[in-house]
Amino acid sequence: MPMRLYNSLTKKVEDFTPQNPNEVLMYQCGPTVYDYITIGNFRTFALGDFLYRALVQNGYKVKYIMNLTDVGHLVSDNDEGADKLEAAAERDGTSAREVADFYIKDFYSGYDKLKLTRPNKFTRATEYIQEQIDLVETLERKGYTYLTTDGVYFDTSKYKNYGLLSGYTLENIKEGARVEVNPEKKNPTDFALWKFSTPGVNRWQEWNSPWGRGFPGWHAECSAMAMKELGATLDIHLGGEDLKMVHHQNELAQSECATGSEYVKYWVHGSFLLIDDGRMGKSLGNAYTVKDIEDKGFDPLSLRYLYMTAHYRSKLNFTWESLQSAQNALKKLYDIVSSYQESPEAHVNQEYYARFRDALNDDLNMPKAVSQVWELVKNNTISESVKIATLLRFDEVLGFNLENHVGYEVPDEIKHLAKMRSEYRKSGIFDKADQLRRQIEKSGYIMEDIKEGGYKIKRK
Ligand SMILES: [Zn+2]
Repeated sequence: MPMRLYNSLTKKVEDFTPQNPNEVLMYQCGPTVYDYITIGNFRTFALGDFLYRALVQNGYKVKYIMNLTDVGHLVSDNDEGADKLEAAAERDGTSAREVADFYIKDFYSGYDKLKLTRPNKFTRATEYIQEQIDLVETLERKGYTYLTTDGVYFDTSKYKNYGLLSGYTLENIKEGARVEVNPEKKNPTDFALWKFSTPGVNRWQEWNSPWGRGFPGWHAECSAMAMKELGATLDIHLGGEDLKMVHHQNELAQSECATGSEYVKYWVHGSFLLIDDGRMGKSLGNAYTVKDIEDKGFDPLSLRYLYMTAHYRSKLNFTWESLQSAQNALKKLYDIVSSYQESPEAHVNQEYYARFRDALNDDLNMPKAVSQVWELVKNNTISESVKIATLLRFDEVLGFNLENHVGYEVPDEIKHLAKMRSEYRKSGIFDKADQLRRQIEKSGYIMEDIKEGGYKIKRK
C-alpha cells in the first residue's frame, strides 16, 4: 500500500506523491523559544519524527527543515502586543538572545530524550533576516502590500484562495467579527510582514530595512526559511492545528503571491494534547515538560509510547495514569525482548512487516502500527529470533531502543556484585546491599528480586 496522508488543504486523505519520486521536502514549524517546551508542544514534534521515519521506511530520502522562532512572534495573533522574546527577556532580566539560547538548549534536550530525528537543519529566524526582507520586497514589487503607521502589511483580498486552508474567508470573518480590527488594516485578515520600531521603546532585536528600522512579522520567517532551504514548493508542511488558521494561512498566501507557484503539496496538522481531559496552561500549573516527567521517575520513551496511542488527528489525553500505563507496556516489551534468544540468521517476518508498514501508510496510524508489536509477540508460530529481527525493524520507526534490550551478556563483574549483594541481603546487612545495588545501577544494570527467591539482572 502506498503512503496516504490527510491533507488539511483539500480535507481529504490522499495518495502521497512527492515532486521528486525519491526525495521528500518537509518543513515543520518549530517552537517559539521564549519558555520551556511542554509535552504538548512535543506531541507535534513527535508527529514530525513519526512521519519522517515512516517516509524513510517507504524508501524516500527526506530533506527535513524545522525553524526556531526567536523574533517577531507577538503575544496576539493580530500583530499586536509585545514580542514574546522581548517580553521574556524582561521577565528573566536578560537579553532576547540569551532567552533564545537558553530555551533552544532546553528544547534540544527534550527532543533528544524523546529520540526525535533531528532535521537536516534547525533554522533560526534571526539568521534569515535578509531573506525575510527580500520576501517582503518581492511582495511589495508585485503589489500585494501597503503601509500603515506601524508596518508593512499584506493585503489578503489580493490572494484569491485566502481562507481555503483556515476556513476563514474575508466574508465569514466579517460576519463573525471574531478579530479586533486595527483601523488601518484594509481587511481584518491582513497581517504584518514587517513591523516598525516604536520610538521610545527599547528592543533587543531590530534591523534596518528599506522601510526603516524594525523587525519581521512572525509569518514571514517560515516562508523565507522554507523556500531558502527547500525551494518554492514543499512536499509536506507540518505543524500543530493551532497554527493552521492564522500562521499557516498567512504563510501560504504570502508564499504563493511571491513565487506564483504552489507552496505546499500536503499540509499535515497534529491535534492537541489534553491534560486530565482539559486544556494545558502555564497558569493551570499543568504545562508539563520532559524534565517534569523525568523528575517523577518516568522514562521519556514512555511519553514517546504514549504519543503513539492516539492517531495524530485525534486529541490525546495525558494523565499520570496514562503515562504509567505506557511505561508499563514499554517495560513489558523490554522484558519480553530480553528473554528472547537472538540468532544472526533470523529474518524479518514479511507478513508482519507489511502490516506494520500498511498501518504507517494509512495516514500514519501509529496505534495500529504499535498493535502489530503485540500481535507479533503473542504469535506462537513464529520463532523468537524472527520476532526479534522483526521488532528491531519496527523499532526503526518506534524508536524504543529495543536493541539495548536484546540478547545481551551480563559482564562477570556485574554477576559477581549481584551475588555479593544477594548474600548481604540474606545476612541482613542491608546498607552494604544497597550500596552494591547502586554500584550495579551505575554500571547500567538493575537487579530485580524474584518472588520465588533469587534475582534477575537486566540492562537498565
Ligand atoms: Zn511557522
